[in-house]
Amino acid sequence: MNFIADKIVFSFNNIRKKASIQVHAKATGDLLFENTIIYPALINSHDHLAGNWYPPAISEEKFANSHIWVKAMKNHPTYLDRNKYWVNDGSFILTSKKEITLCSLGVYKNIFSGVVAVQDHAPRQTQEYYNSFPINVISEFTQCHSLPLGNWWGGASAEEEFALAQGKLPFIVHLGEGVDEITSQEFTDLKARKLLAENTIMIHGIALKDEEIEEISQAGATICWCPTSNENLIGKHLNINSCLKYNANVVIGTDSTLSGNINLLAEMKFSKENFPQVSSLDIFKMVTVNAAKALKLPPEYGSLESSSAELLAIDQILADPFDNLVNAKPENIKLLLHKHKPILGDAKYLDYFDVNPEEYSLYKVGRREKFVIGDFKKLTDYVNSFLDYHKTFPYLPQH
Ligand SMILES: [Zn+2]
Repeated sequence: MNFIADKIVFSFNNIRKKASIQVHAKATGDLLFENTIIYPALINSHDHLAGNWYPPAISEEKFANSHIWVKAMKNHPTYLDRNKYWVNDGSFILTSKKEITLCSLGVYKNIFSGVVAVQDHAPRQTQEYYNSFPINVISEFTQCHSLPLGNWWGGASAEEEFALAQGKLPFIVHLGEGVDEITSQEFTDLKARKLLAENTIMIHGIALKDEEIEEISQAGATICWCPTSNENLIGKHLNINSCLKYNANVVIGTDSTLSGNINLLAEMKFSKENFPQVSSLDIFKMVTVNAAKALKLPPEYGSLESSSAELLAIDQILADPFDNLVNAKPENIKLLLHKHKPILGDAKYLDYFDVNPEEYSLYKVGRREKFVIGDFKKLTDYVNSFLDYHKTFPYLPQH
């Protein structure tokens, strides 16, 4: 069938008014979405799915680098609170029920903000882990935690991981997350160790100098910007003006809620409000086409030009489609498709698809009835069965 909407953003430079797009559904004919803009679904380039406990483990104090925060965090009330449910024993094997439940909460954080693909920065898990989620938790990558600390959490050395990628998979590393001497040397170290290439994704990059950003752009590598997390921990930011000047490939990540914002929509809004020189169009590219390129995703991601498999329909509140997206809230999502399958949306749209209704749960936002794949309430009930109080997560609809 065809979806007809006020505007369809097929890609950042191909927007059509009163347009239609063909979608795989059981119904035939046309479905008119009123006051709606359709986009490619979003990509979150940096998260730690097991870290989406709440509230953030932060304080008024800022840190010279994130490695100091990682130590300080372990005494924070939020971290101690998560210990009541799950203690991180350092093995980073995330496949048993407690860990999968915790990571599934992180996946729902992403789903409720229109995300269909998320990079979970952790040591590579078994395929069973990646297969257990209803959206794409990207399984094809290599990584190092950071150059000063190495892969303390699992995985091979930075050089071995980089070699394993053979230039074909992303090589992901936290880099320059701070304002001190250690973090300012990390890019020099990266180059000396021959780890800068087109497939390198550097997370944060607060310490990157103007000329280093130019080199990154020339190498075709990627910088992942996590502005809320950077504000919360370090109080300083990636030099986004240099990134724009050199047209570097920038993507956006939420990080986990232990340090970052509550979801990708909130992160996009935070970026726009605090860095008004970054256009809404730039932000859109960071969560679609730039991310698909960096994470080496197939062509159905980040664009609707070749496929409608990964699609996001949102209430039209603002006329400019990019301003509209940057200001959208989770309840504005009318429909989210992943691999052509409905994942989230207004309940009335589920009937158009050939799906098993038992795979979904319903919830209400105001008077608007919504569906979502799976049952997020079961997850919070399971978590709460280990706690002596009722825990809620602000990135989930309240229930
Ligand atoms: Zn991180």
